[in-house]
Amino acid sequence: TALGLVFFVIGTVIGLPFWANLMFAIGIIVANVPEGLLPTVTLSLAMATQRMARRNALVRHLPAVETLGATTVICSDKTGTLTQNRMSVQQVFCNDGLVDSGRLTGLAGAQQLLRNARHCHNLKRSQQDGHEIWLGDPMEVALSEFARAAGEVGEAPLLGELPFDSDRRRLSVFVEQGGERWLYCKGAPEVVLSLCEQIEHGGSVIALDDVHRTQVAKAQETMADGGLRVLAFAYRKLGRDEVPAERQLVLSGLIGLHDPPRPEVPEAIARCHSAGIKVIMVTGDHPHTALAIARDIGLVSGANPAVVFGGALRRMTSAQLQIVLDSPEILFARVTAEQKMLVVNALKNKGEIVAVTGDGVNDAPALKSAHIGIAMGLAGTDVAKAAADMILLDDNFASIVNAVEEGRAVFANIRKFLTYILTSNIPELIPYLAFVLFRIPLPLTIIQILAVDLGTDMLPALALGAERPDAGLMRQPPRPAHERLLSWPLLARAYLWLGMLQAGVALAGFFLVLHLAGWQYGEMLATADPLYLQATTACLAGIVLAQMVNVFMC
Ligand code: ADP
Ligand code: MG
Repeated sequence: TALGLVFFVIGTVIGLPFWANLMFAIGIIVANVPEGLLPTVTLSLAMATQRMARRNALVRHLPAVETLGATTVICSDKTGTLTQNRMSVQQVFCNDGLVDSGRLTGLAGAQQLLRNARHCHNLKRSQQDGHEIWLGDPMEVALSEFARAAGEVGEAPLLGELPFDSDRRRLSVFVEQGGERWLYCKGAPEVVLSLCEQIEHGGSVIALDDVHRTQVAKAQETMADGGLRVLAFAYRKLGRDEVPAERQLVLSGLIGLHDPPRPEVPEAIARCHSAGIKVIMVTGDHPHTALAIARDIGLVSGANPAVVFGGALRRMTSAQLQIVLDSPEILFARVTAEQKMLVVNALKNKGEIVAVTGDGVNDAPALKSAHIGIAMGLAGTDVAKAAADMILLDDNFASIVNAVEEGRAVFANIRKFLTYILTSNIPELIPYLAFVLFRIPLPLTIIQILAVDLGTDMLPALALGAERPDAGLMRQPPRPAHERLLSWPLLARAYLWLGMLQAGVALAGFFLVLHLAGWQYGEMLATADPLYLQATTACLAGIVLAQMVNVFMC
């Protein structure tokens, strides 16, 4: 509009008739509207979602693609996202001692622990190729398989269950076994230990005193320092009419499971770092386990990363939390879903663009609150998926980073075709200006302008929307959140540099043809004059050619 006004004023000053001048000004406004923009933006977003889907990231809302490209912080789960979620039992603590998993068979006093591990789960039994298989949490499958391999083959029909969630950090089942009812509980050692009053020791049950408690805690630390995920197991024999409750339990031992990091993850984290994206681990697991894994995958390399307990978050003032979030390497451990939400909101208040992963039902608020909520496709609940903007088909952290790259590519592509589309406005305008100001024959006719707008501008612009991510894209910091698609530098490049060049080329073609035919300045030509037709054709060809060069430059 401003451009139109300027030209209207110029026209008035040089004394054009009012109506012709007005039409001309309106023409300029219309010419500057990038008509191809809307379809091209939509198309390039849609094509990006297809590329992402091929890279295992399913986008649920089209605009999320663009936000993704601006991500500055990724808060990631550990289990299954950074690690493979392929658990195997490594170490066992029972009878006051740590044992390697292979040497458990026949160990006196391990029977209760094995029973516990065998029956305490909420797996579904299923048939596959004639084999019986268990479906569900791979950790529970590993524990149950481990117990079976160690000789615990008994069956125990399930009577009821107190389900796991990341706030309770434990799961209990009550089963019928040998005509009796038993409650089996497993979960995070701190939680389970606080429910126990006795401990299994050499085949008998003794009181769980402070000495034993410290010993158990130390065993947990030792295993966690080695990167193992540690679970405590406890049981209770239920009386005839007793209502099952998780109290006065007998601790039967600890089991440490190894969960190898995903092989792609270290590289993905390195890419995040070079792309200026901060990665924060937010896990329900023990801080030592989290730290060991974080070091393994290159998430943490410094001597003193900030390791924050979820429980401490509540007691922090927002100022303290901001300070914590400023440190370059941060881990949040033993975090509940609600605390995850606190982290997300604090980051948002800092002006970060936050992507967060989640799988459980209670992760939904955090997923909704983040700029980009990412749900796990394999291990995620339907509630988490419904709340998410993006679903990871393979649960893999590396796929998040790939998706960010695609998001950045979309933004870059839209800018490429904006530059491209806007450039041709100048060679459409300048001929008119020259016509008005210098009284020369009109170098470009209306039909030819339409040909440029609809022909040259449309299809190559679509091709720009389909450009693959540039190699340097992930070596730049994220673009500032407030940065506009249409920035001043972009406009200047299109209008003042590329556009001027094109106008020069087009007019040079026009005058060259006229000059070779002996035309003199001031001579007017009829619109049907073959010389005039040739000259305008040369002008159009100049623009088309220059745009072809331009599309490659973009
Ligand atoms: P994350 O997935 O980030 O490792 P979760 O919130 O899923 O953490 O789990 C937190 C803690 O709860 C685990 O460290 C473990 O001690 C316990 N836990 C996890 N899954 C189960 C389960 N199926 N049964 C019992 N306890 C569990
Ligand atoms: Mg989990």
